[in-house]
Amino acid sequence: MPDETLTTEKLTATCCIAGGGPAGVVLGYLLARAGVDVVVLEKHKDFFRDFRGDTVHPSTLEVVRELGLLESFLQLPQQEFRHLEAQFGNFTVHVADFSRLPTHCKFIAIVPQWDFLNFMSSHGKRYPAFRLLMEHEVTGLLEEANEIRGVTGRSPRGDFAVRALLTVAADGRHSVVRERAQLKVIDLGAPIDVLWMGFPRKPDDPESALGRIADRKFMVTINRKDYWQCAFVISKGDFDEIKSRGLPAFRQTIVDVAPFLGDRVQELTDWDQVKLLSVAVDHLEKWHRPGVLCIGDAAHAMSPVGGVGINLAVQDAVATANILVRPLLARRVSAADLERVQRRREFPAKVTQRLQIFAHEHVVFPILQGQIKTDRLPLFPRLLNRYVWLRRLVARGIGTGVRPEHVHTPEAQARK
Ligand SMILES: Cc1cc2nc3c(=O)[nH]c(=O)nc-3n(C[C@H](O)[C@H](O)[C@H](O)COP(=O)(O)OP(=O)(O)OC[C@H]3O[C@@H](n4cnc5c(N)ncnc54)[C@H](O)[C@@H]3O)c2cc1C
Repeated sequence: MPDETLTTEKLTATCCIAGGGPAGVVLGYLLARAGVDVVVLEKHKDFFRDFRGDTVHPSTLEVVRELGLLESFLQLPQQEFRHLEAQFGNFTVHVADFSRLPTHCKFIAIVPQWDFLNFMSSHGKRYPAFRLLMEHEVTGLLEEANEIRGVTGRSPRGDFAVRALLTVAADGRHSVVRERAQLKVIDLGAPIDVLWMGFPRKPDDPESALGRIADRKFMVTINRKDYWQCAFVISKGDFDEIKSRGLPAFRQTIVDVAPFLGDRVQELTDWDQVKLLSVAVDHLEKWHRPGVLCIGDAAHAMSPVGGVGINLAVQDAVATANILVRPLLARRVSAADLERVQRRREFPAKVTQRLQIFAHEHVVFPILQGQIKTDRLPLFPRLLNRYVWLRRLVARGIGTGVRPEHVHTPEAQARK
């Protein structure tokens, strides 16, 4: 029996954005700021999900600054990483030095992503054209004469439909919109997955190293003030085998790579505390069809390697707004406009993905397979430790990436 209390909510917008991650929220903010009537649909009821990355890169901070929001952003609880270090066996590797970046902020801000998204969306609400609807999951597309005219979906109040001149898919690497729009995905493959878990943090814990490498093991430890968010990298498909060896063996593996967790690893008592995050690297052949455009991970799913996916998603949003604000305000978005977005952002995404795949094949996977031993430092880390210019080059690649974007869109009237 259908539930009589469920209704179909009908909305219209000039632009409908599926997904309230970094790409969707920043694009929603920029469009509304320029006076484009926009609705952002996010399937979760809040942003508090611990498996979002925490990195806000110097080029994203530059965008925040161009929007006049830097001062208040820096008030959020955060850590500033001016250098990146990794622990390779018993060696410390100085990986990146951000001190000479051509940006205002010469550091990566480590901010829980829910804080970043809440920050951007609360500022977005100052603009009358901004609507963010939580618990609105997009499940389908409205299509007429081979053109996408908006989306359909479900919320706790029932079904909904949003008619829009343009639909932007910012719904991440499992994008429903790109699938429904039948856009062709080119899978580049990723040989790794990530196990995501937390451990309490103590005041005398080591601070600096982000990446920790021991024999056949690789873990990233993110300081979230009162706990460590740990990303333990495994070969793809190995989780069942790891589970079959039992929790005590897994706890020992964690201690091998991060000995300081030895006094609290016992708190891992159930596999339910460990989340498997599957890593994918892919991109769309064509990012658009009439009425729909994909950006961020929906257009090019990124690996966690280098922690650059959030920055790319934000840069995609900035470029999309720069190119599409005028056509959206004029209510005429052509295929050529959408193609301009792809042409602008495809190169940075593809170069970054190539570098990530290189790192998978020549660093991460060989470490997991035991082909790179940790008893001596390989050549590249040795060069990194020796040459500061090399660390600055790496910082450039991570901190601003290829083709950083700048805000060129106007600001419409905000609410008082
Ligand atoms: C394990 C792992 C760790 C990572 N760590 C980092 C890191 O530390 N730093 C970094 O820069 N990058 C990291 N990345 C990459 C990064 O997460 C992505 O590149 C980045 O989040 C892409 O942003 P996005 O806005 O395109 O998509 P997402 O961040 O995936 O956001 C998509 C949003 O859409 C919502 N959504 C999905 N489907 C629907 C739907 N049908 N209807 C409505 N809403 C929907 C989701 O709830 C989500 O809020 C990591 C990736 C992985 C796999």
